[in-house]
Amino acid sequence: MYDIIVIGAGPAGLSAAIYARRSGKTVLVLEESTYGGQIVNTPDVENYPGIAHVSGFDFATNLYNQAKDFGAEFKFEKAIGVEDGEVKKVKTSNGEYESKAVIIATGAKNRKLGLDNEESMIGKGVSYCATCDGMFFRDKNVAVNGGGNTALEDAFFLSNYCKKVYVIHRRDEFRGDEKDVEKLRSKENVEFVLDSTVAEIITSDDHVSGVKVKNKKTEEERVLDVDGLFVAIGQVPDNEDFKDIVELENGYVKALEDCKTKTPGIFVAGDCRTKSVRQLATAAADGAIAGIAASQYV
Ligand code: NAP
Repeated sequence: MYDIIVIGAGPAGLSAAIYARRSGKTVLVLEESTYGGQIVNTPDVENYPGIAHVSGFDFATNLYNQAKDFGAEFKFEKAIGVEDGEVKKVKTSNGEYESKAVIIATGAKNRKLGLDNEESMIGKGVSYCATCDGMFFRDKNVAVNGGGNTALEDAFFLSNYCKKVYVIHRRDEFRGDEKDVEKLRSKENVEFVLDSTVAEIITSDDHVSGVKVKNKKTEEERVLDVDGLFVAIGQVPDNEDFKDIVELENGYVKALEDCKTKTPGIFVAGDCRTKSVRQLATAAADGAIAGIAASQYV
């Protein structure tokens, strides 16, 4: 039996594992895919205090190695439920593990546009990760949909390789940082398509060949000649598996800054928690708080 099981190996989960190990507790981290969470998709992190520039992948790898060096154990299995009791039982796709406390740090997943052929065009022109797939679109035209920091950073990254980058956003003001908007405005190969949404993904030869956008104010439709569509319209949480032991609010696990859920011994950290600022720094902060709180509980 472990002292603490952490569900999720993103920045929040890995930070929690580091703090719990430093408190002398045994820690198992469960992760359904690869370590790092969403930050691995960020080309250049430049707002983490104390680090001027680092790629998301390097940051995540350092964090993962740090947690491993402190003695956290890792199993790459999806947690599919937690049974409460003095001993908590975490069910996974492969089996069951026991612990005295559990930290849920499942992050969030990419929101989909919900268009008919969106899923079937993944890998054929539709992508949710500019860092991963941008290179396939060198010297081609692409569109980025979204107005948050992810969309702005993706568009800037792509503008360095692609012939033309359209930034499609449903409003004329951006949710992301003004500094990043200004950086994009200075690029000659970037065009903003504002007050607009993607109405249709156009394909030919089983590959994206264009995107039809509709202006919400004028109702005007326009076809953008692009080979790629990068969807960056935010995230949605994925905590349904834990709804019996924690309270969910719009899918997020309800908790205050102390990271305590309604169930003693079950904590929550990072983007999957109800909170107003979802940043790398706040995910790490949550991890520290939850790691210490869970250690004290044990
Ligand atoms: P976000 O901030 O939630 O922005 C999502 C964007 O997509 C918004 O502009 C939103 O429009 C738009 N959108 C949402 N649903 C849509 C739909 N169905 N159709 C069309 N557009 C839609 O998401 P994010 O950019 O992925 O960022 C998530 C969090 O990570 C944020 O807190 C962000 O600051 C942070 N982040 C930080 C960094 C960094 O600091 N380096 C990098 C990336 C992300 P509206 O604005 O109209 O709602």
